Amino acid sequence: MPTAAADAGATAQPGTAGPRAPREPAYGPSAGALGRQDPELAAVLAAEERRQAEGLQLVAAENFTSPAVLAALASPLANKYAEGYPDARHHGGCEAADEAERIAVRRACALFGAEHANVQPHSGSSAVLAAYAALLRPGDAVLALGLAYGGHLTHGSPANLSGRCFGFTAYRTDPATGLIDYDQLRDLARRVRPRAVVCGSISYPRHPDYAAFREIADECGACLIVDAAHPIGLVAGGAAPSPVPYADVVCATTHKVLRGPRGGMLLCGAEPAERIDRAVFPFTQSGAQMHSIAAKAVAFGEAAEADFAEYTGRVVMNARALAGALAERGAGIVTGGTDTHLIVADPAPLRLDGRAAKARLAAAGIVLDSCALPYGDGRRGLRLGTAAVTTQGMGPGEMDHIAELCALALAEGPHPEAAGRLRGRVRELATAFPRFPGIRADMPPP
Ligand SMILES: *Cc1c(COP(=O)(O)O)cnc(C)c1O
Repeated sequence: MPTAAADAGATAQPGTAGPRAPREPAYGPSAGALGRQDPELAAVLAAEERRQAEGLQLVAAENFTSPAVLAALASPLANKYAEGYPDARHHGGCEAADEAERIAVRRACALFGAEHANVQPHSGSSAVLAAYAALLRPGDAVLALGLAYGGHLTHGSPANLSGRCFGFTAYRTDPATGLIDYDQLRDLARRVRPRAVVCGSISYPRHPDYAAFREIADECGACLIVDAAHPIGLVAGGAAPSPVPYADVVCATTHKVLRGPRGGMLLCGAEPAERIDRAVFPFTQSGAQMHSIAAKAVAFGEAAEADFAEYTGRVVMNARALAGALAERGAGIVTGGTDTHLIVADPAPLRLDGRAAKARLAAAGIVLDSCALPYGDGRRGLRLGTAAVTTQGMGPGEMDHIAELCALALAEGPHPEAAGRLRGRVRELATAFPRFPGIRADMPPP
């Protein structure tokens, strides 16, 4: 009986006798049912749905997950407590949870060629903190890219646990080129003798030289932690070099280019595997989020397909096209271009700073972040990413169109009428592309 899953669940009569065809599981997202039960909250979700559909989503850390990933997130595993690891849980009834985690781990290891994967970290930050917990002692010296140059909060910010617990020294990018200054990094490593070197950034548009990082870490007896939160999706698709052969531990998110649920993971060799697992549970987390782990498994399955590899190639191609089109319209481009999904643009030639530029773009429905420009002097630029618009199926022609809309928004200034007109043009472009194959861009709110 081809009934929709949600309706089958809602109308199933207990005790109906007789053999039945296997029915659709009685769970799954039903926006309609939510709308009937809780119109107040449903209206908030509908507004977010519209915002995502009608704007241009250029936040470099975001993407649109598939309906399959969303279905796993809304599955009954959301109800399940599962502290521990498969076959060693503190709760009963973990058979399905164990199997979901085994599948996720197996797929992550195969996808990244890693000997060991831990898929339990609730977020990228949790993964990084667990890596520190596994490899460092409080007070240890650590080298990481300075926050003013694109380092993440977890790389020693005084506002973060990392900065309180470890002795971070910042290395930097070369102000002239925007590229990591490996000579300065090597000098610092010799001087500081860190216990760990951290490679990773929220805004580095180029591939790090993982072999150079490994060599520098080896020279001073440090371990190498690669925080690949951003590029890991490109690595999965073969569009960026893999840090796995070089790092002692790779920390990652699953929700950026990788297009899975919000969450984190750790990849490593056999040697630190046990320490890594203990650092996640029980040291920094307790109950694993099994629905999220199931959704990670789905995303790893998707990322192993040929069309995901093709997708990551298009993400990079689009980022290069967008960087070029923005440069043609007068923006400065940090490092002169990009190897990844990520572009850092300097709007100073347009007589704007990053924060003002971000606000003007937001008024037109173009959503992105401002970020530190890697000059170490507090100036801010714009960070853009092409993961989400590429999932929508946009190509180089649309990247030129987006750059044109950005240029108009930045030139407009704070005139509400002009911003309104521009918003209409942005909406027209965004809604012409579905957010995932099979999902209509103009889906009505529930
Ligand atoms: C996004 C990111 C993180 C953190 O991810 P959350 O899931 O937000 O905690 C960590 N490190 C880097 C370099 C990132 O870009």
